[in-house]
Amino acid sequence: MPPKVGRKETRFIASLFEVPRQAGQVSLTEFLEQIVTRSAAWFGASSVSLFLKESKDSVMSLAATGGDSVAVPKTAIIRIGHGIAGIAAQDGAPVLINDNGTQSRFRSLVGKASAPLVSSMVVPLSSSQGCIGVLNLSRNQGSDRFSEADLRLARSVASHLALAIENARLVASLQTAIRDAESERAKFRGIFEGLGLPAYFLNQDWHVLEQNFATRDIPVSLDLILSELRAEAGLSKEKEVVDHASGRSWLAVLNVLPIGATLILEETTEREAHRRELDRLNRMAEIGYMTAAIAHEIRNPLTGIRSAAQMIREVPEAADEFTKIIEHEAMKLNELCSQFLGFAKPIELDKRAVDFRKVIESVVALMSHEFEDKDVVLDVEIAPRLPMIEGDPLRWEQVLQNLMLNALQASMPGSRVVVGASVAGIWVEDQGAGMTSEQQERLFTPFFTTKPQGTGLGLSTVKKIVDAHEAKITVQSFCGSGTRFDIEFPMKRAA
Ligand code: ADP
Ligand code: MG
Repeated sequence: MPPKVGRKETRFIASLFEVPRQAGQVSLTEFLEQIVTRSAAWFGASSVSLFLKESKDSVMSLAATGGDSVAVPKTAIIRIGHGIAGIAAQDGAPVLINDNGTQSRFRSLVGKASAPLVSSMVVPLSSSQGCIGVLNLSRNQGSDRFSEADLRLARSVASHLALAIENARLVASLQTAIRDAESERAKFRGIFEGLGLPAYFLNQDWHVLEQNFATRDIPVSLDLILSELRAEAGLSKEKEVVDHASGRSWLAVLNVLPIGATLILEETTEREAHRRELDRLNRMAEIGYMTAAIAHEIRNPLTGIRSAAQMIREVPEAADEFTKIIEHEAMKLNELCSQFLGFAKPIELDKRAVDFRKVIESVVALMSHEFEDKDVVLDVEIAPRLPMIEGDPLRWEQVLQNLMLNALQASMPGSRVVVGASVAGIWVEDQGAGMTSEQQERLFTPFFTTKPQGTGLGLSTVKKIVDAHEAKITVQSFCGSGTRFDIEFPMKRAA
């Protein structure tokens, strides 16, 4: 609490502090100089010095001086807790010095005045942060000594001064904070604009706070994008958004942050078009491959039939024998047709709860002889608790049979084939010949085979059955070391 002072003094203090009203124009240093100079005049002091300390420092340095005979060097400092002024600052207690012995000691601390000092006051500046400085006032010999009333007024001036300095420092640190925030914001804007992709910054209510320049040519409304994203549960997410009016598509990536969210769009229109074109080319290549394969398959029996017919004409007595050949080749053609039709027909599933343990056991029972004959070890690995999966058990037997037959055909005698089932899916692994990456690419193409007697329909049928169950098949294969087929179950668990 500043001590009570008279009306005249109150007016003096009020006039003293009119300066900060225009603080915008006056720097803190100038303001302090003005106050100190006016105080020197008011108190009739020959020398006034103001020392201030920075937040955590243990020394105070000279901030302003006033009066006719100031002899405090600009570099003067006061150590908190040392000397009269330092102790006054530490204790927060003002000191009035009118005794000559102390005077000379004081003079040596705050500088040597040209004329001997006769009277001094040391007043700490106390703020909410503790002592932030001291105000020293001295009179030369020949003047009156400072009175208790002077000290009271000086304390009042000091307490106003402390408040003003604290405010000024607060304003300065706020300005620094604002400048920092503005520079952060400028950096953010730079990154935001530099993204080159349309980007939005949303608040927690999903309202747009910022959007960059690249968003200007997004024809689809942001509401549509947001409603698509919101339609799905979860936080950060990606979603393909299509604008049917313009035929353009985007990948919308939403990142949820504690203070809102960022939404970045990437146009995928061209990528989609490329993907569709690639699909079309792949399909065409597949059809071309199939047609060639069919033509090849048909030509063999046809050649047989033609030459048999020719033989009948040339050697009628052998007609019986050649008729048999014709019948046999015709049957092959028929078989080929039904195989192809069977493959072309969409698969119908007879759905029920599938127990993969039973599926594997029945296929193993069916095929174990073939493995024994070729001296290939067949191992079964089934996890203890398998989920029941909705599907067609006979189709799954067909899948495993095809995979195991291929594995057996690729294996050398003495090697091992493993068929397994886990919670996630089923697999067949061999230590056989493996495949090149070109072979792996064509694996599921109908009629693709590397075997002289192969049909090339095994794996394409497998793929069709797996797709019909909405499962996924993947292959890992290394030339010379083996192959593993994995089927994952994203399919429905049977209730
Ligand atoms: P096919 O067995 O009649 O040739 P598939 O569709 O079953 O027809 O297989 C196509 C081709 O894939 C095979 O000819 C073979 O080259 C390759 N293949 C399939 N499974 C394996 C395997 N386990 N190891 C090595 N190659 C394989
Ligand atoms: Mg096969």
